[in-house]
Amino acid sequence: MTVSIETQAPPPPVAPPRPANPVTQHDFLLRHKHGKDYRQLDVYRAAGGYKAVKKALTLGPDAVLAEMKKASVRGRGGAGFPAGIKWGFVPKDTSKPKYLVVNADEGEPGTFKDNYFLSEDPHRLIEGCIICMLTLGIGTCYIYIRGEFFKQIATTDAAIQQCYAAGILGDNASGSGRRLDIHVHTGAGAYICGEETALLESLEGKPGQPRLKPPFPAVVGAFGCPTVINNVETLATVPLIIEHGADWFLGLGVERDGGSRIVGISGHVKRPGLYEVGVGVTLYDMIYGPGGGVLEDRAIKAVIPGGSSCPVLTADELDVPMTVDGMAKAGSMLGTCGIIVIAEGTCLVKCLQRISHFYAHESCGQCTPCREGTGWLARILDDLEAGRAQQADLDVLLDVADQIFGNTICALGDAAALPVQSFVRKFRAEFEAHVTHRGCPHDRIPLPRATRV
Ligand code: SF4
Repeated sequence: MTVSIETQAPPPPVAPPRPANPVTQHDFLLRHKHGKDYRQLDVYRAAGGYKAVKKALTLGPDAVLAEMKKASVRGRGGAGFPAGIKWGFVPKDTSKPKYLVVNADEGEPGTFKDNYFLSEDPHRLIEGCIICMLTLGIGTCYIYIRGEFFKQIATTDAAIQQCYAAGILGDNASGSGRRLDIHVHTGAGAYICGEETALLESLEGKPGQPRLKPPFPAVVGAFGCPTVINNVETLATVPLIIEHGADWFLGLGVERDGGSRIVGISGHVKRPGLYEVGVGVTLYDMIYGPGGGVLEDRAIKAVIPGGSSCPVLTADELDVPMTVDGMAKAGSMLGTCGIIVIAEGTCLVKCLQRISHFYAHESCGQCTPCREGTGWLARILDDLEAGRAQQADLDVLLDVADQIFGNTICALGDAAALPVQSFVRKFRAEFEAHVTHRGCPHDRIPLPRATRV
C-alpha cells in the first residue's frame, strides 16, 4: 500500500545531536564577499595578483617544484593525488613538446566550485597555470571547459585576452624570455570528459572515451606528448603556495593534506553554498556550522560527502575529518568536497534511482560491465520505486554493482557501483519496504527550497 503525500506530516523538528564546533572560514580562494570584480586585470593586480609569477621566476623551477611537493596539496578534482608529485612525473628532458591541460569539466552532481573560479576569479587560475608552465617547461596550456558553461567560457577567455594585451602571456611572457600560450577549449557536456584521458581524447577531436592506463598522461598525454592535467581549484591554489610558502599553506590544513579548500554544501540545509575552510574540518561541523543545519530542523537521514559518486554515510558517521585519508577510513571518499545532505522524510530509493540513471546515461559504452550494468541498476531501481520489484531483486542489484566495481576501464563504473553498494547495504530496510509495500512507503514529504549563499 502506498501512503499518499497528502496524508503524511513532516517529521517533527529535532535538535542537532550536539552543538557544532566553531569553523573558521577563509577568503584566500573564495573572495566574492569582498565585492570586487577580480575578473578585471587591474583589480586582480591591485590585490597582489601575478606577484607569485614574479616570485616563481626568481625562485626557479626546482625550488617551485620543491615547494609544491612540500605543500602536500592533494588534487581538488576528486582523485586526491598530490599535485607536486604529479608535476614531478613529467620528464625533464624530452624532445617532445609538453602540455598543461586544465580539467574544467566540472560535472559531478553536487559539485559547483570550479565554476566559481572560472566565472569570478579566472586570473587566479591563469596565474597558477603560468607558474606550472614556467616550472615544467611547458609552452601551451588548454583549459577544457564544459560546453554548457557559457558565462565561464566567456569570462575565462576575456581574462586570457587581458593577459596577452598586458604581456603576461605571449612572447617573453611575464618577462620570462619564453612564449606561453593558454587556450580555452570547450567540451560538449559529457560527464565522462571529466575523466582525464577521456578529456584528452576529446581535446584531440575524438569521442570522449577513456584510455587504458598506463601509459599515464605525464608521459603520453595530449597528442602523444607529456602532459600535466590538473583541476581548476588545484591550480588556483598554486599562487597562494608560492606567495606565502609551503609551510604557511600546510599550516591551514593537516599533515599530508595541506591548505584550505572550497567545500560546497547542497541538499536539505538551511545555508547551501560554497565555503572555504582549512582541510580537516569534520563533516558534522560543516553541516551544522556554515551549512546552518537541516531544513525545518529535521534529522539527517544520510549524507553524500563529496559528490554523487561517493559512498553514502549515515547520520552516525559524520564525525569524520574532511581529508582524503579521513574519508577513506570512514569508508567513503572526499571526492570534490561537494556535500549533499539528505533529510528525514526523503525516499532513498528515489534518490539512488536518480543517481543511477545519471551514470547509466553518462556511460561511454566502451566496457560491458559499465555499459550494461549501469542500465540494469537503473532499471531495477525503477522497478523498486514503482512497486514491481521482488525481494530477490535487491540481491541482484547488489550483485550487478559488485560485478561492475573494479572491472572497468575508468572510474565511472566504480562511481555507479559505490552509491548502490552503500545505499542498499546501509539502508536495506528501506529498500525492502519498497518491496513489501509495493512501492514507496513514505512518498513524499516536500521540503521548502533553501536560498543559496
Ligand atoms: Fe566508458 Fe564506463 Fe568503461 Fe569508463 S567504465 S570506459 S565510462 S564504459
